Amino acid sequence: MITSPPPNHHILNDPSLRSTWKHRAWLACGCTTVLISLAKAIMGAAKSHIWLGPILAGLVGYILADLMSGVYHWVIDNYGSASTPIFGDQIDAFQGHHEQPWAITRRQFANNLDALARAVTFTVLPMDLAVNDPIFHAFVAVWSGCLLFSQQFHAWAHTTKSRLPPLVIALQDMGLLVSRSQHAGHHIPPYNNNYCIVSRVWNEFLDKRQIFQALEMILFYRLGVRPRSWSEPSSNGTEAS
Ligand SMILES: [Zn+2]
Ligand SMILES: [Zn+2]
Repeated sequence: MITSPPPNHHILNDPSLRSTWKHRAWLACGCTTVLISLAKAIMGAAKSHIWLGPILAGLVGYILADLMSGVYHWVIDNYGSASTPIFGDQIDAFQGHHEQPWAITRRQFANNLDALARAVTFTVLPMDLAVNDPIFHAFVAVWSGCLLFSQQFHAWAHTTKSRLPPLVIALQDMGLLVSRSQHAGHHIPPYNNNYCIVSRVWNEFLDKRQIFQALEMILFYRLGVRPRSWSEPSSNGTEAS
């Protein structure tokens, strides 16, 4: 008897979700620049025996990375198109994510992080070469590391618990990483909140005060550009089955 393939069969064979050696090379470059920054922070702190400043700077980096992940996600979700220079692929991928949110769990590791790894390489490499301050590098290492891996945190927020490593579940349960229940709100109407995808600590602040909606109004009245969230996108569920 011929049985029909599972609904996501085509996704499993989609070459656009596979990692290429180019994706892996950029991921290696991004991780190397972050690790150099981290090494500079640790070596500088060990040499000066001053740890409090770098630790606090790392915490600030972790908190700010969540805010930046939200701002970036909001911009990519709402403005530009697949033909936009530099960001076109990301905009297209995030649009696809709203149509098939669970597909992110089928995207291979380096494929998912490639664009952010490139951005981190170009941003952090000059800092690695030009600065030696351990407090500065503690901030940069944690901030850029969280941003680089934010798409992985996002993928985990779409994955069923049975498929997640226990450490990831523990971090989500402790509120240190965005969880499935916290991110689910981003994929239901009105599709204009819960943009932050690192720790999601900024989501409540930004959504209660309607910061992004206020920015959308300003952009609309000043430049006449309508955000995509004003016309509801379609969605086929938020997590992997
Ligand atoms: Zn989105
Ligand atoms: Zn999502």
